[in-house]
Amino acid sequence: MNLRLSRAIVCVTLAFIIPAFVHAQQPSKTEAAVPVTLFQNVRVFDGRNATLSAPTNVLVRGNKIEKISTAPIPTDRRADTVLIDGGGRTLIPGLIDAHWHAMLIRPNPTQAITGDAGYNNIAAGVEATDTLMRGFTTVRDVGGPVFGLKSAIDAEIIAGPRIFPSGAVITVTGGHGDFRQLSELPRVTGGPLSRMEQLGGSMLADSPDEVRLRVREQLMQGASQIKLTAGGGVSSPFSPIDVSTFTEAELRAAVEATENWGTYVTVHAFTSAAIQRSIAAGVKCIEHGFLMDEATAKLIAEKGVWLSLQPLPEELRQGFPVGSVQRAKADEVWPGIARTYELAKKYKIKTAWGTDVLFSQALALQQGAILASLVRWYSPAEALIMATGTNAELLAMSGLRNPYPGKLGVVEEGALADLLLVDGDPIVNIRLIADPTKNFLVIMKDGKIYKNLLSH
Ligand SMILES: [Zn+2]
Repeated sequence: MNLRLSRAIVCVTLAFIIPAFVHAQQPSKTEAAVPVTLFQNVRVFDGRNATLSAPTNVLVRGNKIEKISTAPIPTDRRADTVLIDGGGRTLIPGLIDAHWHAMLIRPNPTQAITGDAGYNNIAAGVEATDTLMRGFTTVRDVGGPVFGLKSAIDAEIIAGPRIFPSGAVITVTGGHGDFRQLSELPRVTGGPLSRMEQLGGSMLADSPDEVRLRVREQLMQGASQIKLTAGGGVSSPFSPIDVSTFTEAELRAAVEATENWGTYVTVHAFTSAAIQRSIAAGVKCIEHGFLMDEATAKLIAEKGVWLSLQPLPEELRQGFPVGSVQRAKADEVWPGIARTYELAKKYKIKTAWGTDVLFSQALALQQGAILASLVRWYSPAEALIMATGTNAELLAMSGLRNPYPGKLGVVEEGALADLLLVDGDPIVNIRLIADPTKNFLVIMKDGKIYKNLLSH
């Protein structure tokens, strides 16, 4: 047999053997019956409309909503069918936080970068369970070494939300996300990686080629979207807020590599210059945008680009020590938050909602309260639609890279069963979502009940 032929046979054989081997490694499906839950007498907020339904019944089979009807829904009355008498309470879609960093809530910045990775993952797992128990059934993770945590949640090793991972943030030397010390300079292209890169928290890229490499590495690990920092940031010590970082050619390299995988690039950007350059390069979503001018808001609207905004709480600004570089930058950015929300409304920009909580378990506990704080600009129903149906539209931009195919953020037949039963009407009183321990009586993700204070 000639060498080329034998090599071809090996390749073909491996192509069959490897998938079979991988398949055999997975736990076999148990024969247990598909779980069934029937919510009776609930009023549905469907994630799209500002009104509640008439009293209705919702049947969940497996991980999907099978039937919604005002007429009684018969069940097979299997012993393990869960019947929940809603008593006229409100059933809403699980909440979605579009700007979250699951790995960066519990540790402080030093611990995140120099601490033990195993410790940080365990802390992030516990935080993920808390996140789910606050009613957040999905998060879009816009930076951090989150792939392991996501896999552990999906495998039900630990309870947590669905995670749409970006993996490492991609940044330039001196950009937002470059957390190195000056003593670590200079870097040699192709030289050893810094600690934050070894962890997969952020990756440096200073040319179109390097950008492509780093983007493709995140996609290979399962990134559902790619995150770059197109301008300066508050928490990075060496990244002035006014600067634009990546060149247009570098941004375009990221967009091209990402779109080849059927998904999109989102960028961290505050200023008009950084936003406009990103849009010119084909970026589909802007995070923050708090220093943009009116012309840029108009451009975002015209191009149909998403704006992912966060009503950043005052406590976050005050968390930066007085006199620090970070505090000075925060003082510059914070006044732009209200103005940007007003621009988003004025130009009817496609607006996603997120929190961007960093390095604070105490602030993470405010996740629902931060959503409720949107009533500074929106009605309670508009705020809830943004955190459910609208955020889900942004998630759907991941296309075939969506790790959870199916409809999220809505209560409708055929959608994935991520549901919360609220003790009261959050459209009348949005503050209910600020106290999930008390007011979320049932929490369901993917058809599985994680909390149920009602049924017997
Ligand atoms: Zn962020």
